[in-house]
Amino acid sequence: MKFHVTESGKKLVTLIPGDGIGPEVIESARRIIEAAGVPIEWEVRQAGASVFKQGIQSGVPQDTIDSIRRTRVVLKGPLETPVGYGEKSANVTLRKLFETFGNIRPAREYPGVKTPYSGRGIDLVVIRENVEDLYAGIEHMQSPSVAQCLKLISRKGCEKIVRLAFEFARSEGRKKVHCATKANIMKMTEGMLKRTFEEIAPEYPDIEAYHIIIDNCAHQLVKMPEQFDVIVTTNMNGDIISDLTSALIGGLGFAPSANIGNEVAIFEAVHGSAPKYAGKNCINPTAVIGSAIMMLRHLEEFEAAAKIENALYVTLEEGKYMTRDVVGDARACTTTEYTDAIISNLGKTSQTWKAREHKPIKLFEAKPELGLIVPEKRRVIGFDLFIEKFASPEQIGKQLEELTEGTPVYLKMISNRGTKVYPSVGAMTDTVDHHRCRLVLREGLEELSDADIISFLQKVTTTGLFWNHIEKLQEFDGKLSFTKAQGED
Ligand code: NAP
Repeated sequence: MKFHVTESGKKLVTLIPGDGIGPEVIESARRIIEAAGVPIEWEVRQAGASVFKQGIQSGVPQDTIDSIRRTRVVLKGPLETPVGYGEKSANVTLRKLFETFGNIRPAREYPGVKTPYSGRGIDLVVIRENVEDLYAGIEHMQSPSVAQCLKLISRKGCEKIVRLAFEFARSEGRKKVHCATKANIMKMTEGMLKRTFEEIAPEYPDIEAYHIIIDNCAHQLVKMPEQFDVIVTTNMNGDIISDLTSALIGGLGFAPSANIGNEVAIFEAVHGSAPKYAGKNCINPTAVIGSAIMMLRHLEEFEAAAKIENALYVTLEEGKYMTRDVVGDARACTTTEYTDAIISNLGKTSQTWKAREHKPIKLFEAKPELGLIVPEKRRVIGFDLFIEKFASPEQIGKQLEELTEGTPVYLKMISNRGTKVYPSVGAMTDTVDHHRCRLVLREGLEELSDADIISFLQKVTTTGLFWNHIEKLQEFDGKLSFTKAQGED
């Protein structure tokens, strides 16, 4: 674990208040940490909406990056991201800039917070891969009416997150890890996490390892959440199920998180900037307080973390000061009153909270070449050509078949949004102007060269067919590197 201690013995932390309700929740956590007497020196920096307004497209200014490089530890409020248009998320930028590849999101039942699950002892942790998957953010409009987002999953990324999950389980004395994927459908991408998990699990014989399909995981989480201990999953799955798990224990106001990398750790609530509550002094700061507790453990301030956690639980057990998300508007206290109550309870011991084991997480040092697979033999056996045309598959198919005459490839099939539509099998697939045309090496030929592909593309352009994307079809050591279309033989 990395952090910076000043000459006067203080631990340096970059503090980003954030947008919307961010400054209020961050102020609450900061007051509690200071009241607990933790020796921290804050470097207050900006990111998010205020930075976009200054014209900095990334939402993360250089002096914030410089501060994080120095401190290696961040406590941050939520940052606003325009939905469906505009700048990219400054949150995701921060996570990626510092390769915080693992997002740890605990959901543990709180005393005094009534939910349909109260008394069932929910105490689970979602470990979400944090930098890959659909969050690579590589999107293209393939045609004016068809959008594409690339889902990139690497062997290295899978190994890092799987090892983090097992090491985290050990650090908290947990006994079970579920790997939740959609490997039944996305066999290569989601399947890579499953395969990596199954390879690595035997190295942790003290921990039970199970695979579960993500949709069933969502179902089981609602039906019997207490069966789970640690769940490791891909970025998008983890984003969604961790909001679900927060609802099991009282809502987003109670869900903390830690973004962990080998160099930097960023602590923040799972929730966003909840703009409708900004400045109203009414929101629940527990999620950020919980994130701050995780940060204190990262800073090896175990005693202070336990002291604050006890004070938080005592406050909830007393139930005198509760925010509106727990008790409704009529009985609610302000964010400030709730914070004051926690501060006044510092030093008291909770009757219900049982401390978990909290050893530092043993982070795995990934070598740059980790997961790099170099095949002995690679063979290009065709290519998928994506054609934009609003026409019937038969029309495009016939046109392409003419073009393939005298070339090393033949048209094996055309699919539309993944379903084979040519040659027709009599299905009733609706089609759009985005056709994936699979051109495959003729029998008896050994390999397709780049020159063959380029010369075919030149032929295509002369016909007025518009191609917008091409993907090579390869074999690595005799193994196909691509999936078949739905309905393809
Ligand atoms: P949100 O800000 O998390 O708010 C969704 C709802 O959750 C709120 O309306 C409120 O529910 C409840 N909630 C959230 N925080 C709460 C708290 N501290 N106390 C009590 N209730 C709380 O999600 P959003 O409205 O979808 O997103 C708003 C903005 O935040 C977007 O720009 C989004 O991109 C951004 N965002 C940032 C982060 C981040 O910085 N890590 C994460 C997620 C979203 P009720 O309406 O039921 O009261």
